[in-house]
Amino acid sequence: MLSDSDLERYSRQILLPGFDIAGQERLRNSTVLILGLGGLGSPAALYLAAAGVGCLRLADGDAVKLSNLQRQFIHREADLGRNKAESAAAAIAERNPAVVVDLLARRLDEAALEEAMQGVDVVLDCSDNYPIRYALNRVCLKHGIPLISAAAVRSEGQLAVFDPRSGGACYRCLYPEAGAESALSCSQSGVLGPVVGVLGSLQALEAIKLLSAYGQVLRAELLLMDLATLDIQRVGLSARPACPDCSAYR
Ligand SMILES: [Zn+2]
Repeated sequence: MLSDSDLERYSRQILLPGFDIAGQERLRNSTVLILGLGGLGSPAALYLAAAGVGCLRLADGDAVKLSNLQRQFIHREADLGRNKAESAAAAIAERNPAVVVDLLARRLDEAALEEAMQGVDVVLDCSDNYPIRYALNRVCLKHGIPLISAAAVRSEGQLAVFDPRSGGACYRCLYPEAGAESALSCSQSGVLGPVVGVLGSLQALEAIKLLSAYGQVLRAELLLMDLATLDIQRVGLSARPACPDCSAYR
């Protein structure tokens, strides 16, 4: 049961046709793993906390640096040097103390990711490197957990939702090898703060939709955008028959 204060706090989304009290209760009974509390993870974690997701599991092994503050706005100047998951947890506690936060303040290898996946309903990949993205994809496939993936660099971003429960492409089908794209990083190529903000917000949106059964989740498509020109496209995604990661589960 939602309390009177819950009904008031979340009233603007409960009002939405198709969201309702049932959607709010689904959010409250959900656990979301957010891997990476940087530019994507900042808006994603804050929106999911504000929306009343019951439990957020925050994983990041890095410390807040001065060059992060231009876009990673969950962290403040006072957090410089602090672990990003810890800093994000403190920011969430200030905004919505009802959210249970599980802290994983370290880099996770594939075995640790397996453990981190216990009880998780949705995973948000807000990381910035290919080895961890591939590992996360494999673990999500193995456990049948939806993976909401985003990336942003320069003025460009992309978003995809991989849901093993409905089949279709996985992250590795989209990027069979860590190729030229892996050379693009924000530290080398630059990025505008609102670009990662848009993509991280879209990850939170898709997670809310998936968990609450509101609206239509992005399925079997990759959303591509260049926000320098506001050019937005959707392209179809299909599974690669020989994909080393998902073919075993088909
Ligand atoms: Zn695949």
